[in-house]
Amino acid sequence: MSQKTIGLIGGMSWESSAEYYRIINQETQRRLGGVHSAQSLLFSVDFDEIKQLQHAGEWDRLAEHMKSAAIRLERGGADFIVICTNTMHRLADEVSSAVTIPLLHIADPTAERIKAAGHKRIGLLGTAFTMEQDFYKGRLQQRHGLDVIVPDADDRQVVHEVIYKELVLGKINPESRQAYRNIIARLIERGAGAIILGCTEIMLLVSGEDSAVPLFDTTTIHAVAAVDHALKA
Ligand code: GLU
Repeated sequence: MSQKTIGLIGGMSWESSAEYYRIINQETQRRLGGVHSAQSLLFSVDFDEIKQLQHAGEWDRLAEHMKSAAIRLERGGADFIVICTNTMHRLADEVSSAVTIPLLHIADPTAERIKAAGHKRIGLLGTAFTMEQDFYKGRLQQRHGLDVIVPDADDRQVVHEVIYKELVLGKINPESRQAYRNIIARLIERGAGAIILGCTEIMLLVSGEDSAVPLFDTTTIHAVAAVDHALKA
């Protein structure tokens, strides 16, 4: 069967891009059998520069980086674009308008899974950008009708710092896992019936046993959705 070529914008961080690559290939092989694997292109950025620009609020310059990556992928033969980070979906519209191929938005398959499982009120963990700005929560609320809650300010800071100081460096710290467990428990107390792991590195730290309610891991959901799209006739 012919596959579409998946165009991945990665390196944010490479720890999670490696997960995308693994999941996409495993899922393709699971579906097609034998030694099948996914047809893909990866444009991987230098995350140091991205991180600095994010924290300086330089979203226009970040948009230029993301658009340039998407254009290179399209020129290289990608059939659709996957941005391998939740945070950089802040620039999803800019990326979409820079190319003629579609963008597979990470929030959409995530919301579809959550709705299919019958959840309405959900807790969101991610970077401060994802938890505090509207581009992600707004899409879940307005387009998908979900009721999204985020941790309080102190907890958001913990979640954010663990991502940028540990997880993007591949550091897995049991104390940070316990801090995330406590934060998840507080979201559940406030009525969250499920939790979105809305940062593509959180799945490196937290798994189902750390939460009393279901977790929706955006890395896995997005990677599997990419395979769905690549294999769709
Ligand atoms: N991978 C993370 C995310 O899904 C954070 C890294 C980034 O800032 O892109 O949001």
